[in-house]
Amino acid sequence: MLMCYDPARRLSQMRVRAEAMLVGVRMLFDLIDMKTSLNENPDGPALKPGPAHIRLEDVTFAYGERKVLQNVDMDIPAGQLTAIVGLSGAGKSTVMNLIMRLYDPTEGKVTIDAQDISGLRASSLRRALAYVGQDTFLFSTSILENIRYARPDASDDDVKAAAEAAFAHEFIIALPQGYQTQVGENGAFLSGGQRQRISIARAFLKNASILLLDEATSALDAISEEKIRDAVQVLGRGRTRVAITHRLSTIMAADLVYVMEDGRVIESGSVDALLRADGPFKDLYDKQFG
Ligand code: ATP
Repeated sequence: MLMCYDPARRLSQMRVRAEAMLVGVRMLFDLIDMKTSLNENPDGPALKPGPAHIRLEDVTFAYGERKVLQNVDMDIPAGQLTAIVGLSGAGKSTVMNLIMRLYDPTEGKVTIDAQDISGLRASSLRRALAYVGQDTFLFSTSILENIRYARPDASDDDVKAAAEAAFAHEFIIALPQGYQTQVGENGAFLSGGQRQRISIARAFLKNASILLLDEATSALDAISEEKIRDAVQVLGRGRTRVAITHRLSTIMAADLVYVMEDGRVIESGSVDALLRADGPFKDLYDKQFG
């Protein structure tokens, strides 16, 4: 599958192979008007504003010949935090990819407020979603401009307000050039935690109703982790959040947990209910957190 990006002003018509670049595609998701080779439905209906209740209905999905999701049903309540847990390769990121519509299901459908996302104007779906992952794509420009990529018409004050909300303002103004600091090639001059806070600032600026968090492999120092957790908590309030996570703090804060194994949902419920059930979640929990 080919994808092309049209990242406002900068890269024009760059084409990449999605298979090779999927992580990169997720990283770019927040910034630019990304076009995929899936039907963009430019004249299709826009996603109607609503509480943002997401459902996967009997979703089966294969990357080419390789089936990686099998009859997955998920009910992701509006305005709450839903965690997806499971071992590596269980299909968690694939679920996220389908919600972002980087791919369409082979069978079944994904809906938001009962609207099948495959029929919607793709740009309206992208506007409703913000993705915060462990990798943040940064352009080789200033911090100010890097945050503004999430909403090119935002004023400097809007950008700074978003950075404050993301607990990024403090570290930014401590840099010699403040918001004008050049971040270097893909943010080489910033730490992983700082890059992630820029990604959260972008999500604030975008003000999307759905927040997709991928905490799976992020290795952060304790202070960054705490700041990011606080920022995500503020950002997440009232929004529908889906988190792929191994972090105990996120799992404990979740309203609902889905446990995946080999492309299937094998258990779901509140943390308390899952611990009481003494099933796969309890095993995973004991292994990870002793
Ligand atoms: P992790 O926790 O390691 O990120 P995950 O639960 O998110 O794993 P997925 O990334 O969704 O799992 O992968 C599910 C399966 O699909 C794996 O077997 C993986 O190798 C395969 N897979 C993932 N992406 C692709 C792709 N682009 N093409 C082919 N197979 C893929």
